[in-house]
Amino acid sequence: QEDIVIIGAGQAGAQVAQSLRQGGFEGPLRLIGDEPHPPYQRPPLSKKFLAGEIGAEGLWLRPPAFFTTNNIDHIPNTRVVAIDRGAKRLTLANGDTLPYGKLVLATGTNARLLTLEGADKKGVVTLRSIADVNVIRDILQKSSNVAIIGAGYIGLEVAAVAKSLDKSVTVIEAQDRPMKRVVSQAVSDYFSGLHKARGIELRLNTGIEAIEGGDSVTGVRLSTGETVPAELVLVAVGAEPNDHLAAEAGLEVDNGILVDGCGQTSDPDIFAAGDCTRFYSNRYQRSVRMESVQNAIDQAKAVAQALLGQEVDYDPLPWFWSDQYDIKLQIAGLSEGYDDTKVVGSTQDNKFYVAYLHDGRLIAVDSINSPRSHMMARRVIGEPWRDDLLPEA
Ligand code: FAD
Repeated sequence: QEDIVIIGAGQAGAQVAQSLRQGGFEGPLRLIGDEPHPPYQRPPLSKKFLAGEIGAEGLWLRPPAFFTTNNIDHIPNTRVVAIDRGAKRLTLANGDTLPYGKLVLATGTNARLLTLEGADKKGVVTLRSIADVNVIRDILQKSSNVAIIGAGYIGLEVAAVAKSLDKSVTVIEAQDRPMKRVVSQAVSDYFSGLHKARGIELRLNTGIEAIEGGDSVTGVRLSTGETVPAELVLVAVGAEPNDHLAAEAGLEVDNGILVDGCGQTSDPDIFAAGDCTRFYSNRYQRSVRMESVQNAIDQAKAVAQALLGQEVDYDPLPWFWSDQYDIKLQIAGLSEGYDDTKVVGSTQDNKFYVAYLHDGRLIAVDSINSPRSHMMARRVIGEPWRDDLLPEA
């Protein structure tokens, strides 16, 4: 059997490797990653791991022995810098080369950076990896004031953790409501209220002029002219797909590596899975790029099936979650394009859901502390709406 090489030893890369072995692939299998750790899950990075409630071993996706037991050659600390498609050969950062028969790109995303004056000061950080959290924890310990730029789910999760550690926390958001990209007004309003009630300063409709300080940050200057004091500034303004390697190799890329329903790129010997991909969703009739554990796992399984010669057409029902304080937000489906909503349950009791409809059909559900409605939603999305389609919140 041909060599299979996977670039990126994260959620998707590890799943491709595991599913290939489970599916009976017996050929050489390499999993190359530029981080020093065994493949790990990222969601706890901004939740329990940042809070110190779990250690790094609590993040490993498989026990470290899993890879040797399954004859998967996990190669850590190794960055692939070029793909020669003609010669079917990779170049590593140390200059070595490595041949491949089939290649899988599972390179994930990078945190988007700010091009602001002062953004390179000590204490200005992003959050994507264990290494990032180690830096953040260290600075957080010595800080009284934390500023978070971006009220997306990572920004808000970190705000919740910092608040629980008794820090003074300001979240600055350019849009008029938090998590605007992913949730409706009702859910944004609920989370605004939640964070304010816990003592977070939430500055909406607010831009940033500059990051202030000497070597280290001391504050963030807002578009209003005020300066918010901060010894730690988290820039949480989204992520960008790690698709440069693919683009430089001449693969089709458009804000994500373009793949079909088998995860195949424009080169039949190269597949891709996870956050770095973009694909056409028949279910939602548009091109999508997802950043979720669900997509990383399910698309990775589809790629493994395709590599094993099985028929597959990946068109998932997306789902996602975020934990802020003791509140669990679960999202099923994609709500973009909805023309009606139904709010069921009680925001006061912190237990409700918002159903999103399009042309009378259910397209997505955001559940707040209502796991039953979330689980049911994943089964019935796509059906015409009726009041008994989902359980009570
Ligand atoms: P990753 O897990 O990012 O793995 C990609 C790996 O490839 C990385 O280790 C990277 O260093 C490596 N790599 C990149 N380029 C190269 C190269 N050239 N050579 C070698 N290695 C390379 N999702 C949810 O569903 N729920 C959540 O609550 C949630 N919370 C999150 C919180 C945080 C702080 C973050 C950062 C993400 C969160 N996510 C969450 C998103 C989820 O973690 C990602 O969708 C998932 O990790 C994607 O898996 P992936 O394998 O595509 O990418």
